[in-house]
Amino acid sequence: MKIIESPAEMQRFAETARLRGEKIALVPTMGYLHEGHLSLMREGRRRASVLAASVFVNPTQFGPREDLASYPRDLQRDCRLMETVPVDVVFAPRPESMYLAGAQTWVEVTELTRGLCGAARPGHFRGVTTVVAKLFNIVKPHLALFGAKDYQQLCAIRQMVRDLNFDVEIVPMPTVREDDGLAMSSRNTYLSPAERTAALSLSRGLEAARRAFVRGERSSTVLAAAARRELEREQGVGVEYVEVRDAISLQEIAAVSAPAVVAVAARVGGTRLIDNIVLEPVPK
Ligand code: AMP
Repeated sequence: MKIIESPAEMQRFAETARLRGEKIALVPTMGYLHEGHLSLMREGRRRASVLAASVFVNPTQFGPREDLASYPRDLQRDCRLMETVPVDVVFAPRPESMYLAGAQTWVEVTELTRGLCGAARPGHFRGVTTVVAKLFNIVKPHLALFGAKDYQQLCAIRQMVRDLNFDVEIVPMPTVREDDGLAMSSRNTYLSPAERTAALSLSRGLEAARRAFVRGERSSTVLAAAARRELEREQGVGVEYVEVRDAISLQEIAAVSAPAVVAVAARVGGTRLIDNIVLEPVPK
């Protein structure tokens, strides 16, 4: 497994691979890998002849009061896990080489990023789309895999690819969960045992909404309330939002008549967690 730090060297590697006729898959990550990341990598391995993964804690997607400094980092551990896939090339740049002094260009998806996480994290998605655009230009992938766990991010990246004619296929991948339902996240490492238990209210809330939907409930307000009740039952969980939105446009909807996403964000102790499920009405 090759490890590359320099963007220019990564571009040379990718260009050479393309000239050989290889198909390149990219899995962008911020590291501290778990089974969610590895599921994306295994699928990338299956779909391409060269599997690239990036490990980069992207400073531009963190707000000034967020956890950039404390975000868990362990490249050696990540490399051991990536060897098992196996990943062919790891792109692990230094922040200074990704953002040169005087950089002034941003990629911003406007509408899709207004509500949900975009409301509480101004500038977050602009940082995400900018770094993903840069990674596409550096790693030159034919396809890139993203988790539905970060649902709004997946929507924003799809929109960016469409709007800016990126020649990259976006492959969405299902959320990988712990056995008890907690969506895997590098940030779960921040949780104390009591918080870990309280965090289960997110997936429990989403399941409550799903059960109501299966029973025939279609009102967004009622479905969201079913999820919110589970979260609010739990001491030490601060709900940021519980929303039901159109699964493609992320527009607010009064009732579910087409695929919809139920998305939640909550603070558990000092840790901000997100989760979501997609509800699919069966066509009549
Ligand atoms: P991150 O390192 O958290 O920025 O995530 C890197 C990629 O892994 C993103 O496409 C995430 O959506 C995806 N990912 C993170 N957690 C999960 C999960 N539990 N299941 C599936 N994909 C995930």
